[in-house]
Amino acid sequence: MIYGLIGEKLSHSHSPQIHRAFFEITGIKGEYRLFELQKNDLDSFLYSAQQEGFMGLNVTIPYKSEVMPFMKRISPEAAKIGAVNTITLDGALEGFNTDYYGIDYTLQKNGLILNGKKALITGSGGAAKAVTAYLMDSGLLQLYIAGRNPEKTKEKISSVMAIGYNEIEQYQPYDLIVNTTPVGMYPNTGVSPLSRDQLKGTGFLFDLIYNPTQTELMKIAGSMGIPAVNGLFMLVAQAVKAQEIWNRQNYGLDMTDAILKRMSIDLPV
Ligand code: NAP
Repeated sequence: MIYGLIGEKLSHSHSPQIHRAFFEITGIKGEYRLFELQKNDLDSFLYSAQQEGFMGLNVTIPYKSEVMPFMKRISPEAAKIGAVNTITLDGALEGFNTDYYGIDYTLQKNGLILNGKKALITGSGGAAKAVTAYLMDSGLLQLYIAGRNPEKTKEKISSVMAIGYNEIEQYQPYDLIVNTTPVGMYPNTGVSPLSRDQLKGTGFLFDLIYNPTQTELMKIAGSMGIPAVNGLFMLVAQAVKAQEIWNRQNYGLDMTDAILKRMSIDLPV
């Protein structure tokens, strides 16, 4: 069974390792291939993948929005986010966004109940859109998003209260903070998007960065007694959700744990 990832530059992708571990655990005789495409090739590639009986495709930068016009159906979460990262090809092409579920599985795994709570997102790029869509569906009372230019953030993500970093302390405390900026990511480690004062009173921190596995932001949170999780579980859980969609199975949170245990993602240090 053939699965694959389409994007522009794929040499640093962790997806083959994750899906290989999944095939080993489940015994599925699968193959996960990488396809570096030009934008003009998308339509014909999707058509031929369908003709050749591919089980499913993932989509990454810069084609997560570009593939949407070719979909016959788009799932509600992908429509809200405005990006598709998973496609089913049996029958009509259907687009999903499994980052939404990677966020869900991570917060579930950590026992977070968000109903009636207050959350803050830092950053307003692609990942922030998925986090926003998920948190808006989770019954939160208030959601703030801090960006370097709140006016621009409001244009990009109209559904939330956009604030500047200098306003973060005004609305404290937050039950949950989700960092979607790359600040502190390899190779620019040792810097944090938030200060100790900005973290004061936070109930839980979710940093989407997975390399390094302990970011400067997480270190500060740890020294303040704030529980924190990195983006590694999300990275694997979104791949598990794609397999759930393609294979029409429910593998649950244990599958993500099993994959994480089996593989050692080759992160540069
Ligand atoms: P992106 O589209 O480039 O957005 C990043 C956002 O961060 C920008 O829109 C910007 O927001 C803010 N930002 C960038 N540089 C900054 C700086 N120097 N200081 C303060 N803010 C800055 O990137 P993305 O695709 O959303 O990814 C963001 C991070 O999430 C990356 O580290 C990525 O690895 C991680 N990620 C993890 C997973 C996972 O599965 N764990 C999935 C997706 C992404 P403002 O302009 O509003 O400030």
